[in-house]
Order: sequence, then structure tokens, then C-alpha cells
Amino acid sequence: MRSKALALAMLLPLAACGKQVSAPPTTGVTDELIAKGPSDEWLTYGGDRAEQRFSPLDKVTDKNVGELGMAWFADLDTARGQEATPLMHDGTLYITTAWSMVKAYDARTGAVKWQYDPKVPREKLVDVCCDAVNRGVALYGDKVYVATLDGRLVALGQKTGKVIWDKLTIPKDSHMAITGAPRVVKGMVLIGSAGAEYFTRGYLAAFDAESGAERWRFYTVPGDPSKPQEGKHLEAAAKTWSGEFWKLGGGGTVWDSITYDPATDLIYFGTANAEPWNPAYRNTDGAGDSLYTASIVAVKPDSGEYVWHFQETPEDRWDFDSNQQITVADLDIGGQKRHVILHAPKNGFFYVLDARSGEFISGKPFVDGINWARGLDPKTGKPDINPDAKYELTGKPWLGIPGAVGAHSWTPMSYSPRTGLVYIPVNNTAQAYSHDPDWKPGTTGFQLGIDASPGNVPADEAVRAATKAAMTGALVAFDPVAGEVKWKVPLQTPTNGGTLATAGNLVFQGTALGDFRAYAADTGKQLWSFPAYSGILAAPITYSIDGEQYVAVLVGWGGVWDVSGGKGVTSRITPNISRLVVFKLGAKGALPAPPPSVERVLDPPPVSGTPEQIAMGSKLFTNSCSVCHGNAAVAGSLNPDLRHSAVLGSAEAWRNIVFDGALAHNGMVAWKTQFNADQIDAIRLYVIKRANEDKALEGK
Ligand code: CA
Repeated sequence: MRSKALALAMLLPLAACGKQVSAPPTTGVTDELIAKGPSDEWLTYGGDRAEQRFSPLDKVTDKNVGELGMAWFADLDTARGQEATPLMHDGTLYITTAWSMVKAYDARTGAVKWQYDPKVPREKLVDVCCDAVNRGVALYGDKVYVATLDGRLVALGQKTGKVIWDKLTIPKDSHMAITGAPRVVKGMVLIGSAGAEYFTRGYLAAFDAESGAERWRFYTVPGDPSKPQEGKHLEAAAKTWSGEFWKLGGGGTVWDSITYDPATDLIYFGTANAEPWNPAYRNTDGAGDSLYTASIVAVKPDSGEYVWHFQETPEDRWDFDSNQQITVADLDIGGQKRHVILHAPKNGFFYVLDARSGEFISGKPFVDGINWARGLDPKTGKPDINPDAKYELTGKPWLGIPGAVGAHSWTPMSYSPRTGLVYIPVNNTAQAYSHDPDWKPGTTGFQLGIDASPGNVPADEAVRAATKAAMTGALVAFDPVAGEVKWKVPLQTPTNGGTLATAGNLVFQGTALGDFRAYAADTGKQLWSFPAYSGILAAPITYSIDGEQYVAVLVGWGGVWDVSGGKGVTSRITPNISRLVVFKLGAKGALPAPPPSVERVLDPPPVSGTPEQIAMGSKLFTNSCSVCHGNAAVAGSLNPDLRHSAVLGSAEAWRNIVFDGALAHNGMVAWKTQFNADQIDAIRLYVIKRANEDKALEGK
């Protein structure tokens, strides 16, 4: 234990701004240890500083992976989505589960060492698009850091799980939430927030690792132009916005990628969409680029000072977040050694940028069918935007590819320096966008300015089957130098798991349908699979103890925008049974067989209400409710399918829940500040109609 006196002695005054600055840790998990990258341990979210998710461990190989079996598993205490990358240090495996809970296990046996519950208020669920997920902890010195859904950063003792400090990092009472994993560097903990769909102003912030004191905060979008901006970069950015954009926040949140690069001494991070999505409601004098949204930004770690940015999707109106994992690599490009950033954002183009300057090197599609842009300028990387995709100008619905789910979202990719390939979990999805001429800023839930209801899948079996067939996924091995797909494994559904590459010529990935698989990294040949029964989204890791190589992954689907239910995919074979599962060679364990799935028969009250009421309900449901309860009211396995709701027949009971918030303790908050009583009932009438349509189909 470090003495209090020593801890105080480590607090050095920072002359520049008078803030207390602690020295980085010299024992335990240090910057030097993290910089070495994964060997026996896995110390940081992306595996190493370069976030390559490549392990040099090679005891498990393409020759013997067939002998891989389950060593142990641990049931988790929540069935919601699991997104965390486990970290392993000193024989202990650290994970987070849904609701930002932290658990520490003996990495060899699975014995629980300690657990911590930050007691996140369940009402916070309304401020996130995609479940109460968390992507993992950071380890630094003798501490564990977790960022919670309700916006706190908490430091815990690595050995004990006891709270050392607990600090609110988001503005009080804001709609921001945190789902991402913190990163640590130079005595600081870095974290941003989610929420670019909810009137928020994005930022990345740095906190003193010892005390929790805020060191700097870098805003990604300008504030009120009549007041001084927090830096010259924001004065420049303000020129790319118009109207009273700041009143709606601007978006650009930093909800996932944060990469520190020791070679350049820069922090790179990705930013989300501008808020609201529809530029007609934020750049009222015409669409501008809305800097620094949908961008990669580089800042200095010591001050948070702006260095460079590259905007991947100027004037975004399709929710093309650039928050996806930022991987650093050294590549031979055109006969030159280049230190580069590799990035596969939602917009479907794979970017290679110079890490020092942000200079565009290349940008090539990693999915088929991209229609929002006709290509990228080979010199600048600027997209040639399809005029038909500007739905706010055409006034017509636009079926965009990729959709808002993204060609690739947060599910981590990996890069193998051995094969030179990037392994990307890819989504093939489309999305209908249309201008909503009647939109007004609201108070609760998504604030997008679009009407997505023209994209509702009708109650028609043929259309549903066609939609289902068009919504797929793939594991894509992309060659960043050649700018082309080297091999591809088609997957039945979108939103599959993150990937891990190893020196054993292997790539590991879980699927949304509950398989955990190993492929040959060079050819894509499937070599092994394990039935995990519930869908997998999280990325696996590998570690070694006493010469034994282990592979660990979290099982439990959720935490991505659930496009499955409403599109008729209904891909979940069972409701989630969320688990941590660990493998090693020669182990023979098997998971308990899942309970049989239960057929649920629809039994709704008869259709009532006028066509006008039902049409109003359709629009309101689609734009505010479908994000949790599914397209066309067909939910996935995670949130209640309202077609089966027991209160459909009672306007009063429905109002108690939806208007007054009777189920707020479950995360279903009151919507009375967003909707009036007539609107709440119109949503009920629409769901009744949808249930009756689907009941008629069941009878066929
Ligand atoms: Ca977004």
C-alpha cells in the first residue's frame, strides 16, 4: 500500500493552470507496461497502445485449434447486452457487465475475487440508443477505472474493488451517458460520453488518475458564437455551422475510440454525428460541414490542445459516427514506410491516414452497395455526395446504404502485422431517412429531425422475407495497403462480435447467432466453433498463465441498434444467458443446454381508433419507440415486444406506464413531457393494429 504521505508527495503543481497533477504510476500497470503490448497479459481495451488487438501468443494455432475447449464459465447477473473486452493482469481477469458493474475473477479458475455495482439508476436507459452496456475497464497503477452509464468515472482498488473516488464527468442532468472504456496515459484517465442523438455537446476529457480532478476538456463542436469559444479550433469550426445550432448541442460525442500513440505523442479519437441528424434543423442557413463531427481528431495529451482533424463524413445526415476503433500501424505504402491510422467507420469506406499529420492516404469501400457517396476524392478523401441522399433538400425518402447501424460500428476490429490484414465485423444494412417537416425539439428520447416511418416494414410475408435476406453481416479481411477485401465470410445477420487476431494464424469472432469461431487468419477458412447459445458482440482476448494460453469472451447480445426484430430477422435463438466463457487447449467443458424457446401466440384486442390516429401512432412509435421496441413494433429479445403487452386493451393502464412512468424503475420513463395524452394513446392504437396484422399472418 502506498502511504498517504507518498501519495501527497506525488501531487506536483502544474504551473500553467494551477491544477494539481499526479505523476504517472511507477508500479503495477505502468505506461511502459501498456506500451509493450499484449504478451501474457491483456492490459488495455485495444490490447496495446496501437489498439491492434493482435496477440503474439502462439500456443493455440491453426494446427491445434480443434482441441480448444471450454476451461470455465461464469454466469453474469444481468441478461442485457455484454460488450466488454476483458483485461487480464497478474492472474486476474477484469470485466464489466451491463449497468456498468465490474467483476474480478481468478483468470485460471474463474473464482470470483470481488465485484462492484455502481447502482446506476435504471431510468437512465432512456438516454441510450442501445441498451445499458459497457465496454470495459482501464487498469493503471494499482487501480481499476470504470465509466458508468450515468456519467461517472469511478476509481476502484485493483485488489479489493473498493471505491477510491467517484466523480460525475457529464454535465449534471444532461442526457449524456457513458458506455465506452476509459483509457489511461501520463497519469490521466481519458473518457468522453455518448448521446449525439439527445441534444448534447461532445467532448473528450482527461482526469487526474490519482485524485479524479479534471485536467482538460476538449469540445468537439463550437458553442454559442456570440460568446468566446474554448480555443481557435472552435472559432474555425463555428464557420461550418449556421443558425442556432448550439441550442441543440451539436452532437459530435466521443463514445468509443480513444487511442494514445507514443510514437507521435498524440491522442486520436473519433466523433459522432451532428445533432440533430437532419441538417435542416441545425444548419438552418444551409448545410455546412459541421466540424468536428463525424471526424478523427488529434490532440496533445498534456494539454488537450488541437493538433489536426480529418472529417470522414462532412455535412453528415445519416448518423455516420466516426467513433469506431482507431488502430495505429506501420505499413509499407508505395515503397515508403508510413506510420498510419487505420479506420473503418460507419460510412463504409476504409481510411488510411498519416498518424502525424492526419493527411489522407487512401479510402476504399469495405462493404458493397454504398450509395450515399459516389466515391472519395483520391487526393483529399472528401466524399462526392449523392444529391438524392440529401433527403432534407429532395423532400423524398432516401433508402441509404449503409444505414444508421453502420457498415461497421463499435464491435472491435483487429489487425495482424503477420498477415497485414484488418479483420472487420461488417454489417450490410439499409435505412430509410426522410425529412420531417413538422419536427420540433422535444424532451425525451431520440431527437433526430427525421421521419423514419416510410421505412417501416409492412405486414407482408414476401417483403419481410426479402428484407431479412438483405440484412446480413460478414467477417471481412481487408488489405489496407491494396485497399481491397482479401477474403470474406458471409454471416446470416448483421451485428456480430468483435475480432481478435493471434500469432497462431488465427482470428476469433463470435456471431449474433451464438457461435464462437476461429478462422485461419490468412485464408478465412473456419477451423473451429463452440456453441455459446446466446449471441456474441464483445471482442475476445487471449492471455497466458504458466505457459497455458487461454481465450476469453463475453457472451450476451444487445447494445447495438436492434434491427433484427422489426426486420423479421428475429435471429436470437434464446433470450440472453449472459456469461464470461474461457477456453484452453484440451479442456472439455460444455455450457448447460439452454431452456427450450417458448412460442408466444399473439392475442391482441381488436383494432380500434381512426386511420388518422393510427397514422400518428405509427410516426411517433417509429421515431421515438422503435429504437428499443423494434421496427414496426416487432421487438428483438432484449426489450418488451409491445404487441404482446398485457395493457394494450386498457388506455388507462397504458397511460400509467407510457405517460406517467409507472415502470420507470425498469428503465421505461414517463414520456409526458414529450407527448400529450392523445399521442400516447395513438401509439397504443398503432401497436394494436400491428399486433392484429401479425396475428393474421400467424394464422396463414
Ligand atoms: Ca450516432
